[in-house]
Amino acid sequence: MTTQCPECEAAVESRTMVLGEVFPCPDCGTELEVTGKEPFRIEPAPKEAEDWGE
Ligand SMILES: [Zn+2]
Repeated sequence: MTTQCPECEAAVESRTMVLGEVFPCPDCGTELEVTGKEPFRIEPAPKEAEDWGE
């Protein structure tokens, strides 16, 4: 199963991911968190320690 990066819409495959895993998008490098497996969902990982450009 794949889903799209919420930042750049690159296809991201779920097969190596576990729920709660934080990983960088292979395309844009945004830190993403796995928020669901069935269906596969990802969201930008919270960055609470620093202001992250918004
Ligand atoms: Zn991306």
